[in-house]
Amino acid sequence: MAFSGEEFDVIVVGAGVMGSSTAYQVAKRGHKTLLLEQFDFLHHRGSSHGESRTIRATYPEDYYYPMVIESYKLWDEAESQIGYKVYFKARQFDMGLSDDKLLRAVISTCQKHSVPYEILDRNQVAAKFSGRFDIPENWVGVFTEYGGVIKPTKAVSMFQTLALQKGAVLRDYMEVVDIKRDSVKGGVWVYTSNGVKFWGKKCVVTVGAWMTKLVKTVSGIELPIQPLETMVCYWKIKEGHEAKYAIGGDFPTFASYGEPYIYGTPSLEFPGLIKVAVHGGYPCDPDKRPWGPGMALGSLKQWVEERLSSLVDSGAPVATQLCMYSMTPDEDFVIDFLGGEFGKDVVIGGGFSGHGFKMSPVVGRILADLVLSGEAKGVELKHFRIGRFEENPKGNVKDF
Ligand SMILES: Cc1cc2nc3c(=O)[nH]c(=O)nc-3n(C[C@H](O)[C@H](O)[C@H](O)COP(=O)(O)OP(=O)(O)OC[C@H]3O[C@@H](n4cnc5c(N)ncnc54)[C@H](O)[C@@H]3O)c2cc1C
Repeated sequence: MAFSGEEFDVIVVGAGVMGSSTAYQVAKRGHKTLLLEQFDFLHHRGSSHGESRTIRATYPEDYYYPMVIESYKLWDEAESQIGYKVYFKARQFDMGLSDDKLLRAVISTCQKHSVPYEILDRNQVAAKFSGRFDIPENWVGVFTEYGGVIKPTKAVSMFQTLALQKGAVLRDYMEVVDIKRDSVKGGVWVYTSNGVKFWGKKCVVTVGAWMTKLVKTVSGIELPIQPLETMVCYWKIKEGHEAKYAIGGDFPTFASYGEPYIYGTPSLEFPGLIKVAVHGGYPCDPDKRPWGPGMALGSLKQWVEERLSSLVDSGAPVATQLCMYSMTPDEDFVIDFLGGEFGKDVVIGGGFSGHGFKMSPVVGRILADLVLSGEAKGVELKHFRIGRFEENPKGNVKDF
């Protein structure tokens, strides 16, 4: 295998939002950085492409709250560096059965962190949103300031541009097939399928739905990160009502707790359409995707019909987009040193379980901290350890 001749302080493998944000964070601190991507940059085969991602601070797990709050600040900083917007403000509205354990946990998180929130019953919801949401009598709504929409492809492009501006080297069509320790001079060799290898003092692996495959090859560790194919659906707002759902007004980003968990964003990317989708998908091999057939939409159609007060056409989505989730059994991230012969020289960030985008700025900051200094300040990482799956194959135990 031919040596590229280039040596780096940190090689980041995988240029989705997590790898791109990490490359920016590492390069910004003055380290020689290489970002490698197996496909072309900004491709549509992973998890970070598309037109909208929700940012919200209302998590049942309270340890995500400080990460989201730091991310709001880091999104703002990155936007001022680049000079354009990727974040669009909205409020967040969560709803579900009044005794839903997850929704109760969301309220506890708000209380614990002194987040101002309003709990609304059916009539109050109808009044607050001028009839645009209709919840059953035995449901409640939770309304907070901390919502919003991020433009994903644009945000990945932003982090890559910022990384380049800080001196990082970016290479696409570089599929990493192995990472090996250099037992003579230390550091790691990163091997690609097209016969080029790179040397780095350290390495960060952020390969999304390919994480289980690559980590198994590199270290033999079997991570329980399951790739799922998922589908985003756009629904047509009935004529004359379009403006009521537009971003920048009072329509919020929203989530509906229960089975299935449903989420949505105000109308932004396609005028007159609103995104409403199910959190979840179908297990697949990321290299042998089914590309969509068989996605069941029955409960989603019913939800659109009933919860959006018949102001949105629930017959069928008018546009769809496919995407990948990387699910862990507890839906918590995996952020840790790979360990073994690599010690603290290789760090992995994966298993973002369909809710990582909003936190990509802080994840990049944490991965950069870990790989450069061996620790990440100001954040509790115990929930994200690889070792939790050895203690319990289902991962973190939650009482909701
Ligand atoms: C439909 C959908 C809706 C979502 N909604 C939200 C939301 O509202 N809010 C939110 O916060 N999050 C949301 N998420 C989750 C969020 O988008 C993901 O958590 C995030 O994009 C994961 O980024 P990643 O960088 O880990 O993975 P990816 O974007 O998949 O990046 C991994 C990259 O690594 C590359 N790669 C893989 N193997 C190799 C290799 N061997 N060599 C080189 N490169 C390699 C891949 O090609 C890919 O580009 C959603 C996800 C989806 C799919």
